[in-house]
Amino acid sequence: MAEKKLTPMMQQWHEIRAKLSDDTLLMFRLGDFYEIFLQDAEWGAKLLGITLTHRHGMPMAGIPYHAADTYMQKLLDQGVKIAICDQMETPKPGKLVKRELTRIITPGTRLADTQIDANRNHYLLALELDKKGLNAAWLDLTTGEFVLAREARPENLFAAFEGIDPREIIVPEAAATEWSKKTHEHGFNELYQHICAGRAVTSIPDYHFDLSSGAQSVMDALGVLNLEGFGLDRKHPALGAAGALVHYATETLCAKPENLRRLKEYSSEKTLLLDPATLRNLEIFKSAANTRQGSLIAAMDETVTAAGARLLERWLCAPELDVEEIQRRQNCVGEFVTAPGLSTELQTLLKGIRDIERILGRLQNRMRNPRELGGVRDTLNALPAIAATLLEFPDTPVAAIAERIYDFGPLCDTLDRGLADELPGKIDDGGTIRDGFDEELDHFRSLTRDSQKWLSEFELAEQERTGIKNLRIRYNGAFGYFIEVTKSNLALVPEDYIRKQTMKNAERFTTEVLKEREREILHAEENAIGREETLFNRLISEILEYADNLKITAEALAEIDVFIGWAVLAREWDYCKPELDHSDQLLIDQGRHPVVEQMMRNERLGLAGTHAFVPNDCRLSSSGKGEAAPQIALITGPNMAGKSTYIRQVALIVLMAQSGAWVPARSCRLGLVDRIFSRVGASDELARGNSTFMVEMNETANILNNATPRSLVILDEIGRGTSTYDGLSIAWAVIEHLHPKDASGARTLFATHYHELTQLAKTLNRLENYSVAVKEWNDEIIFVRQVIKGAADRSYGIQVARLAGLPSTVIDRAKTILERLEADDSSHNLLRKRMKKEKSGDDTRDEDEQLALF
Ligand code: ADP
Repeated sequence: MAEKKLTPMMQQWHEIRAKLSDDTLLMFRLGDFYEIFLQDAEWGAKLLGITLTHRHGMPMAGIPYHAADTYMQKLLDQGVKIAICDQMETPKPGKLVKRELTRIITPGTRLADTQIDANRNHYLLALELDKKGLNAAWLDLTTGEFVLAREARPENLFAAFEGIDPREIIVPEAAATEWSKKTHEHGFNELYQHICAGRAVTSIPDYHFDLSSGAQSVMDALGVLNLEGFGLDRKHPALGAAGALVHYATETLCAKPENLRRLKEYSSEKTLLLDPATLRNLEIFKSAANTRQGSLIAAMDETVTAAGARLLERWLCAPELDVEEIQRRQNCVGEFVTAPGLSTELQTLLKGIRDIERILGRLQNRMRNPRELGGVRDTLNALPAIAATLLEFPDTPVAAIAERIYDFGPLCDTLDRGLADELPGKIDDGGTIRDGFDEELDHFRSLTRDSQKWLSEFELAEQERTGIKNLRIRYNGAFGYFIEVTKSNLALVPEDYIRKQTMKNAERFTTEVLKEREREILHAEENAIGREETLFNRLISEILEYADNLKITAEALAEIDVFIGWAVLAREWDYCKPELDHSDQLLIDQGRHPVVEQMMRNERLGLAGTHAFVPNDCRLSSSGKGEAAPQIALITGPNMAGKSTYIRQVALIVLMAQSGAWVPARSCRLGLVDRIFSRVGASDELARGNSTFMVEMNETANILNNATPRSLVILDEIGRGTSTYDGLSIAWAVIEHLHPKDASGARTLFATHYHELTQLAKTLNRLENYSVAVKEWNDEIIFVRQVIKGAADRSYGIQVARLAGLPSTVIDRAKTILERLEADDSSHNLLRKRMKKEKSGDDTRDEDEQLALF
């Protein structure tokens, strides 16, 4: 069958479509529409819920240009990549319009403010594995933040990835398939699959990860001749991944990214590491219910600007190991704690600024609209008052931040004079530039304005001349200016009127005079818009000349926002400034759980009589020496007593302290922690599916292999995912492992319902027993939520079961069984006997053992 000849426009479509991958949808500009053709039309129409039409048998679907944003958002939400093909010249009849790809929008390269979450960073992450380790680079195109990293132990980097929460992951083609199979060591595949789950993964040809060309394209993008200024060598192994990012950004922006100015190196040695399981268990960014509400970040976020919220997120996912930096942050918070009036004033001023980082990102990457310039203007106008207020903190670390806020007087002045008060959404809507700013523009505008006057005079004159009272001069886009006469008055129309169009109730005419004037008016309008565009671009260039200083200023403002937010929190909840040092101690007086405490007060507002949060102390030291001994605190107590809350609050206080915040405690002294590990026994994780016990053991293995004497380990009900004997034995052995004989070990909190473990205190000299106290009253228990020295005497399981509403027959029966078990004074001994046997591989059970227990 002979191939159908394509129209030139469809040929153009095919040429452009061929450059794109199958998962990208091409939106092809055709006049006032974006058209979607052929294979794209079928899935596009379905995803958008719009009508699929056919022309000459060809499937197509169209969306109006002016409503495109809404439709694009819909596609992006469904994970579709969109390629935009625009008309590059004004269409002329009979000639094929020049069209080009102007942008490919993918989950990790979105820039428009309608397409991104203002309070979150949007990272694009590239990964590459070589024989010596994992190379990675990540980039937030919206702000220009660009980071690379190399780790011999991939798991250290995966910990960071969880925190940065990439929107899209770029991998080399060949590796992508291999990594999805289970072949690598050290759980690499599991980690890789975990980070990819629910995220867009894009594979690109391997050669884009080439090291030396990567280094070159990174330097080009940064506009530098070498990387020494960033403290990096051009042979850094992660430059391949960084180069892949620059390539991908260039391809999707259809131009070089213009807002990359700095490249930083991430090193797991400079940050408190939080692996993915710990971030989940401690509910740092998301609650167990997978919502932001109920997470630590939600409880700590009192910021008023989007840039502040993003900085808070960055700080919480990479707490510091640098005492000086931590103290700088704490001291800044302290300044604001003691100056509540000024803090409130500053917060009010900060609310008036706009997201300069992201506005710059868009302006630099050719996404320009008049309102972005208005954002810069409004921010610059707010700066002097902010700077003046910061002067009230002389000789403090806050004053040092104030020095990073630049003076943009001349730029601010130009923008004030140049921009209108109310700005249009698009430059060609007109009205961006203020009257009186530019003579030439004023001249064109006055021509148009005079024309308006001329038109109303002309209307009046024609009404008089013809005697048609309701004669009107009107305008529309398709027909230009015309004289409209209703049908009933047609008899009065003079000879010189030229018919233009017939309507139902009226006729439209023009005259030679009106035609001439129409030409003049349209010309003047066109000239005015053209002139506005020139001036607009000039203003943008002027802003971009200050880009670096604007960025520094924006970062300083974001810091102030976070610090004031933390100060607000500290005052409201009575937090203290923790003391940090290089000791091996962890001393918390009257610590509280920041999230539970807030939730309890909120509940209490509606629920009279609920008790307030009960504070608790914590004392740990890795050497088991000094004020803070022991190294391991073993915490027993009935279910619901508050064990999990307690051990998590300790971890959260450490994390908050090393982020630079103040903490919910009366006092806190902390020897720096290098990693926090937190694991929860399997049955709490059931919701996550797959072999939960296996997951629990994997994670526990990770702790045992990676915890150092500087680490903090929080274990909750480890061993619960299997039978009692197994579980107890594993828990037992894990504790022994965490307690090296003659050396220091990780500071550890171990919550368990295995009472047998309390025996360990007899053999392990750095382990101490604690329990969460309960009171008994009329065979019921009352939780007092207090952590006290010494093991719990029993587990109160039956009383807790009663609280949970188990039928009384079951409760009574359980009590009888318990009494019988307790009466048999050897039941504990039996258990130990049993464990001894298991150790020796003997799997038989004594008759009396069975009988006694059941
Ligand atoms: P466990 O781990 O011992 O089973 P949880 O830590 O889950 O107990 O605590 C049970 C409930 O008790 C929590 O939901 C919390 O609301 C409350 N709670 C825990 N600790 C405290 C405390 N210190 N003060 C007040 N209420 C608390």
